[in-house]
Amino acid sequence: MKILMRPAAAQLNGNSPIFYLALTGALLLGGMPDATALPPRLNQPAEIAQQDISAEEVDTTGLLPADIALLRDSRFGWKHLQTERFILHYEQKIFAAKVARMGEQFYEAISGDLPNLKDRVSPVRSHIFIFRQARDWQAVVASVPGLDPRVISFVRAQAMYLQEFGTGAEKFNLLAHEMTHLVFNRFLPVRLPLWLNEGLAEYYGEFAYRAARGLGQSKKSAFPPLRHWTPLAELLTTTSYPASAVENTRFYATSKYLTGYLLLKHPREKWDAFFDRLLAGEHAIQALLLTYGWADIAAMEKDFAKFLR
Ligand SMILES: [Zn+2]
Repeated sequence: MKILMRPAAAQLNGNSPIFYLALTGALLLGGMPDATALPPRLNQPAEIAQQDISAEEVDTTGLLPADIALLRDSRFGWKHLQTERFILHYEQKIFAAKVARMGEQFYEAISGDLPNLKDRVSPVRSHIFIFRQARDWQAVVASVPGLDPRVISFVRAQAMYLQEFGTGAEKFNLLAHEMTHLVFNRFLPVRLPLWLNEGLAEYYGEFAYRAARGLGQSKKSAFPPLRHWTPLAELLTTTSYPASAVENTRFYATSKYLTGYLLLKHPREKWDAFFDRLLAGEHAIQALLLTYGWADIAAMEKDFAKFLR
């Protein structure tokens, strides 16, 4: 899920005014800290098959009643495009075809980092609803009980609700962010803590799109100094999105930095061991401290603070 970041809040990361999204990869590049591991790289498949299908051909297996109601809602002139893992519902073909192509590439990149796990949903496809009109988006958000009204895109079970939002790069950063949640729903048998779920989505939102564009990433950094961040004792135990825009922006940014710190500044074996502990049902804080060898959260925060400078 991605929440609209307000301009005032976006300035917290120390950059000149960046609008709305905390995640605007292309705008955040600086010098890379010495990386012990590299961010994901994408294979460039020669061709990703996509096929127009009729409404009757849409397989609704795995969809929730609300998803099916939206699919049948005559206010939308849904057309349907099918790829190996997704069925897209769209009104404008050009963007949908790009989402289909990039979506498959992002799926490959993200799932490639989960080598010991299987896609538990395959061969059933996930669905991507694409919204272009702000009015339609607001109506959909209002129809989901309990959903944060600031949300700009989200994933629920096997369906992604994607708004065509922002500039070209931002649209695909957003797709990569949401694709992370969708891939996790397909692969992971456990629920990740909120910071890790959003931190990884932000991380892939940054790197998966850059990789798909063939842009270099080992020497550049998505991690310029972060001046304002959420204290780890709070971050690691948060189970709901902060109410204030400022706190929310800090939450997403700190989650992204902590994920990047764990993935890029430590041997990859540590990350794999940490993830194995999570999958075994261990408490995330205990798994972190034991795997990375910190005595407590304060000790972890002391090390992490160096990465934020
Ligand atoms: Zn998210």
